[in-house]
Amino acid sequence: MTRQSKMYKHILLAVDFSEDTDCLVERTSGMVLLNDAKLSIIHILDNIPMPDISYGTVITLNDETDNSLLEQEKAKLNEIGKILNVPENQRWLIWGSPKEEICALAEQENVDLIIVGSHGRHGLALLLGSTANDVLHYAPCDVLAVRLSK
Ligand code: AMP
Repeated sequence: MTRQSKMYKHILLAVDFSEDTDCLVERTSGMVLLNDAKLSIIHILDNIPMPDISYGTVITLNDETDNSLLEQEKAKLNEIGKILNVPENQRWLIWGSPKEEICALAEQENVDLIIVGSHGRHGLALLLGSTANDVLHYAPCDVLAVRLSK
């Protein structure tokens, strides 16, 4: 067995642009290097009203729109994509539910590791659930839940 472990070929990082994103980016960068893996990134639009399209719609990153909230989300995803050297066609912005769209894209793109943040919830917050928990239960592949500060 060689010392270098290339366990994962295609890693998918799910980002919600919260203040902990730097930590996720750092861990992802390490995992990509370690595995010499392809990297895709995904952000799910779950907080912008978009009445004209159905859940699961992929939003193209270079489309001109007059929705400034949407433009902000595109800019944030592109910024992270540039930091991590992710080609534009592997930066995904999708309208829908995070759990469903992250897992569906992982399946569609033959991802073998999903990276998400985890806030280590307790008590009532734990009962209410988290994206990390949901992804863990429905993912078609391994999931790395990076513990973030609370
Ligand atoms: P949460 O359960 O909301 O605390 O989110 C935990 C992690 O799930 C985040 O650090 C992201 O990795 C992922 N996540 C949550 N919401 C989204 C979203 N809208 N798009 C992509 N990833 C998300």
